[in-house]
Amino acid sequence: MSGRGGKRRLAVIGHPVAHSRSPAMHNAALTELGLAGEWSYEAIDLAPEEFEQRVRALEGEGFVGANVTVPHKGAALALADTLSETAREIGAANTLSFAGGEVRADNTDAQGLLDALPDSPAGTRALVLGAGGAARAVVWALAREGAEVDVWNRTPLRAEHLCAELGGRPVKSNPMDIRCYGLIVNSTSVGLRDEDAFAELPFEAAQLEEHHTVADLVYAGRPSQLLTIAAHVGAAYVGGLEILVRQGALSLEIWTGRSAPLDVMRSAVAEQDVSR
Ligand code: NAP
Repeated sequence: MSGRGGKRRLAVIGHPVAHSRSPAMHNAALTELGLAGEWSYEAIDLAPEEFEQRVRALEGEGFVGANVTVPHKGAALALADTLSETAREIGAANTLSFAGGEVRADNTDAQGLLDALPDSPAGTRALVLGAGGAARAVVWALAREGAEVDVWNRTPLRAEHLCAELGGRPVKSNPMDIRCYGLIVNSTSVGLRDEDAFAELPFEAAQLEEHHTVADLVYAGRPSQLLTIAAHVGAAYVGGLEILVRQGALSLEIWTGRSAPLDVMRSAVAEQDVSR
């Protein structure tokens, strides 16, 4: 169904959501694809208690899909009528599609991470930092690709629960010996503010080496301390904005059936950085 002005509407739903780069990224992509006349993408701030009722009403308002972010990824899964296998196994959805009165839930965070990595993690020993919502998709994706996954979390019990559900092995030591890992993924929120990341994480900056690949899900207005050190030692690295672009590209492809223009989306999120 089309909404006001016949547009097919898309949105990112979060709480808060005003900071989201997804509207700029998706509207730039829709323009590049020649779809901006028919499609639009906006931000919707919904408190948890409003989520289910409003999401159920979105199709009637002309929405064909939505990204879902903190704190709604679990609720999105719970309200959906049909689930992709990935969303069901991870236990969280970041992409909803509305058609025929039904809500379908997908998770593009997992494949988005894999697409952003410079190499396949198959056969790699990987250290995942964090056991929150983002870590779920990371652990699931790496384990499914055949990586050997260790999970460290500040609160060890959460890592134990996550591994029991999704695979991987909880590790507790702090400091850790990270020489054995090929891939290190930061899926904690460490790095969002100006804190010293290495005061919060279980290894020192000097332990990062050229043979590591470092992925940092956090994105702020500057390169993270973790990635700055990774670049300095000649390690391969990928930042949170590229991971954001890759999950967004997969969502856009689900809704429109068109290949997403990655470079246009990268420029749109980077421009937002400068103008913040
Ligand atoms: P979350 O569910 O709130 O989990 C936060 C995680 O960070 C937990 O593991 C928490 O450990 C850990 N943590 C927080 N403060 C810490 C500290 N000072 N020292 C050590 N660990 C700390 O959040 P989330 O949804 O998983 O998101 C995590 C980060 O990923 C956020 O920065 C988010 O913006 C980012 N993200 C990026 C993308 C992308 O596309 N690039 C997608 C999703 C998320 P405890 O369990 O001990 O509290």
